[in-house]
Amino acid sequence: MDISVVVPLFNEAESLPELAQWIERVMDENGYSYEVLFINDGSTDDSWQVIKRLHQANPRMKGVAFRRNYGKSPALNTGFDRAQGNVIITMDADLQDSPDEIPALYKMITQDGYDLVSGWKKKRYDPLSKTIPTKLFNATARRVSGIHNLHDFNCGLKAYRREVVKHIEVYGDMHRYVPYLAKIAGFTRIGEKEVKHQARKYGETKFGLDRFVNGYLDLLTLWFQAKFGVKPMHFFGLLGSLMFLLGFIAVIVVGALKLYNMHSGHSYRLVTESPYFYLALTSMLLGTQLFLTGFLGELIIRHSNDRNHYEIGEEIINDDTAALPPRQLERDLPVGVEEKKTNVASVNAQ
Ligand code: UDP
Ligand code: MG
Repeated sequence: MDISVVVPLFNEAESLPELAQWIERVMDENGYSYEVLFINDGSTDDSWQVIKRLHQANPRMKGVAFRRNYGKSPALNTGFDRAQGNVIITMDADLQDSPDEIPALYKMITQDGYDLVSGWKKKRYDPLSKTIPTKLFNATARRVSGIHNLHDFNCGLKAYRREVVKHIEVYGDMHRYVPYLAKIAGFTRIGEKEVKHQARKYGETKFGLDRFVNGYLDLLTLWFQAKFGVKPMHFFGLLGSLMFLLGFIAVIVVGALKLYNMHSGHSYRLVTESPYFYLALTSMLLGTQLFLTGFLGELIIRHSNDRNHYEIGEEIINDDTAALPPRQLERDLPVGVEEKKTNVASVNAQ
């Protein structure tokens, strides 16, 4: 199968028939074999009934329904899991993304060799309250992820090579960072295509401004996971040791100063009267805590099944070497053996 289109949706009943029809038309015009996976994320309207009707009219329209609303990321993840196509295309259900972009995206994956192509809504039809924070958000995401050529991380319209979606796990609200997830999993040929964007026709947006706060927190999480995920001690241990050391040195300085003043006859105060003493103490305590956090992190990883999970690209070790005869090396040839024997004999004779 050429293409799986994955559409996460939450209360989008009005848009679905139009979207399905549009995708159908594009697929048929280009002669693609395809499936459309509607992932109904616990809609409370009659989205699911609509999907069932679409399936009856065209069995390539498929659906999975969550029992309740989990979020866009779990919906995408479920679609990725079920997808059978060689290229997977994700798009929002609200008709903001245009199915007309599918052929070009498909070609970028199959012919230009990209692992992932992200849409870029250069001209956006969204309120200003959304577009300005989005610019800031994307600038940060580019810096942190090191994927410098993407303008629009959170674009719903994206295309993937099959291996990519089978090797990443989109959870929580991580759908904003799928390119970063892909990069962490070792898929680095990430491209971008300018796509047409439209204003929402039916229904309303499902995400408020809290998306930006959560978005930044998620970015921090991913960065930490990518960098210290299996070696938290390298982060907490270093930070903890430095803080502890700083506190320790400060305590010694405060104590030494007092002793010096005592012996040289200057006026002196109790150590506990110096504010530096308390700062130093706090620093030592925090340092110890950070250090222990690192230890706990290491213990958790030691017992997690994920600790030795690596993304294997290819292997050439699956042949049956056990059945092969031993290789004959030159030193094992009969002449060599004889030489050795005579040597041993001469030693014994002496
Ligand atoms: N969506 C979803 N589950 C949710 C919220 C949203 O599946 O909990 C879907 C939604 O139906 C749409 C897509 O995710 O197909 C993008 O959502 P929306 O259009 O509201 O986001 P925006 O375009 O405002 O960024
Ligand atoms: Mg939308």
